[in-house]
This record gives sequence, C-alpha cells and structure tokens, in this order.
Amino acid sequence: MNRLFRTEGIVLKSIKLNEADKIVTIFTKDFGRIKGIVKGVRKTKSQFGSSMENFTIIKLLAFKGKSFNTISQSEIIQSFFPQSKDLFRYGLAIQCTEMVDRLLVEEDPYLELYELFKNLLLLLKDEQNPVLLVESFKWKLFALLGYQPELNRCTSCHHLVKKDEYYIFDISRGGICCLQCQRETGSFQIRISDYLLRLLQRVLMVDLEKIHNKDIEQTVLSEFGKINDLFLSYHFEMESRSRHFLKSCPQ
Ligand SMILES: [Zn+2]
Repeated sequence: MNRLFRTEGIVLKSIKLNEADKIVTIFTKDFGRIKGIVKGVRKTKSQFGSSMENFTIIKLLAFKGKSFNTISQSEIIQSFFPQSKDLFRYGLAIQCTEMVDRLLVEEDPYLELYELFKNLLLLLKDEQNPVLLVESFKWKLFALLGYQPELNRCTSCHHLVKKDEYYIFDISRGGICCLQCQRETGSFQIRISDYLLRLLQRVLMVDLEKIHNKDIEQTVLSEFGKINDLFLSYHFEMESRSRHFLKSCPQ
C-alpha cells in the first residue's frame, strides 16, 4: 500500500472519536478491511459526512500514516436506505455487515468477497425476498472463506446421497450425512428437507441476482437461517446479535 492511496470501499462501521472526528472501518476493494480516521466529519452536514454512513459504497482517497490511516476525501458511489425508511432491510444489512467486519482479516484484500458483499447491498434495496437473499449471501460467504460444504456425498461413507424426503446436515463433519450413518443427534446436526438441500446446492452454483423465490415456504427459510447460525457458531464462535433484533421487527 502506498502512503497515499485511492480505492473503492464499503463503510462497515464508524465510531465517534471526539467532537469532530470519527474512526471508520471500510472494506476496500484493493486492500481489504482498513480502519481510518476521518477528521472534521462530525462538524458539518457535508457530503463527506454522509459518505461515512453504514454500507455506503464510496471512492476514497486516504493517507497511510505510521500507526493509522487518514481518510482525506470520499465520494458516494451508492448510498442505502436510511434506518428510518426501512428498518427491516436496514437490520438485515447490519447483520451481514457485522459478519463481514468480524470475519475479515485486516488489510488482507479479498476481491471476490468484496464483489459479493457489494452485490448483496445493491440487490437488497429492491429484492422481493430479502431474507432469502441474505441467507444465500451468508452461505456463499462461508464457501468463499473455505468452508464449502459437501452436499452430494455422505461425509461418512462417501456414497452419493440418494433421493430422500430429508437429510441430516452435520456441521461438524462439513456436510450431508446419510440416514444410515447418522450418529446420535448432536447440537450441530440439523434435519433438512430435500427442497432445502437442492436450494443449498443451487445457491453455491449461481450468482446472487439469480436467486429469487418470493413464494418460498417460511419453514425452508427458517431451516436455511438455522444452518447459517450453526455454521457461524461452530466455525467462527459468533452469534448474530442482529437476528434477535430482526425477530422483533415487523416485516
Ligand atoms: Zn453414509
């Protein structure tokens, strides 16, 4: 990274530093997750200030100092729903942003993940089934981070999974296991329907914009959410705090 650098990025969070300044965490396209100080941003209601709102996609110019970066200029490429306009979508975006912030290593570029996250935010504005979109995003995110689950063969006996009414997804084994190999039900096993198995396979094969189904059953969506939650807690020891918020939020 040069001392002066330009890149595109997505604001993950910002924290008040003092009366005038903020510390902002940005997922940049070229340098991964960075933190930087934004000076004078809290004094005026400037365009610079609004560019530092959560999930805004920006072009930025920053300066790398000895111990921290200073963001000196930014320009909005795309801003998103204010919290007051659509609390539900805002909550979903916060949930994904928290995950990206926690799971990324600082200053380690990850272009594919950047494009996936940007795409999620762009689609989330108008998608008819935002919950399906968000769960699909998380599923793709885990695969990108190296946790691509086995969805075609039993993770124990390695036989191709036969058509069945339901399957056992075993997070600790990294995928599907057939009913014969099912061990005692542990807390990281979950019974899933044939429909969800096919959906899990499809999500990994196609781009986010191709995943639509406004009529998907609520039970399938909650199974999907449960698998993602188990993944988060098993592999990353992370619980999605926003999920509790969303449960209390009218859709
Ligand atoms: Zn088996």
